[in-house]
Amino acid sequence: MDKALKTNERELVKLIRFFSKRGAQLATSGELNEQQEQLAAACRNLETQLYKHAQNRAAILEKRERLEKIIEDRAQCPKCHKADMLKKTGVASNEHGWKSNTYRCRRCNTTFTWNRPNNPWDMVAFLERYIQELEQRLQAAQPVGMQEHIEASIPQLQDSLYRLRPVLQTSDEEMAALTEKEREMDRLIHQFKNYLLIEKIKLDTFPD
Ligand SMILES: [Zn+2]
Repeated sequence: MDKALKTNERELVKLIRFFSKRGAQLATSGELNEQQEQLAAACRNLETQLYKHAQNRAAILEKRERLEKIIEDRAQCPKCHKADMLKKTGVASNEHGWKSNTYRCRRCNTTFTWNRPNNPWDMVAFLERYIQELEQRLQAAQPVGMQEHIEASIPQLQDSLYRLRPVLQTSDEEMAALTEKEREMDRLIHQFKNYLLIEKIKLDTFPD
């Protein structure tokens, strides 16, 4: 669990444990006064809060990571139209700033950038634009069969779009709330750490 903690959190937990242990020792020997008891309680409280926050953060970040990888390319080599010899080689951005994966087909020794984004945020922008293009094409005369094909594919694309949008919105909101909470916790950690450090120095200077 300690691995989920950031450096400043880990430093504070170390200090908290020092004071918790000391509180417990004083309680055993019957020397615990009210101020020390309050300090021990505050330490316990903050430790619980820290771990809860770290756990929450790890869960949100893990979810975010899964979301970032949600798009699976069904990439095909533009030459041989096969997928079995493809090797992912990197990521490229296009003129809209959308990121797509690049591949090399080991059969044809050809490299190419897949024509769809590799992440759901760019995919939403891609789908919006693509649907618009298809709708425009419906205005013009189409070859036989093409009209039906486009008419059938638009609702499917819209369906993907409507499913993606709320998921991304929720995640973006979660990330914004997490950033805000992190700022709050960092401030609290900083203050409490300074307070405990001063208390520790006092102990060293004036031994009980
Ligand atoms: Zn190929």
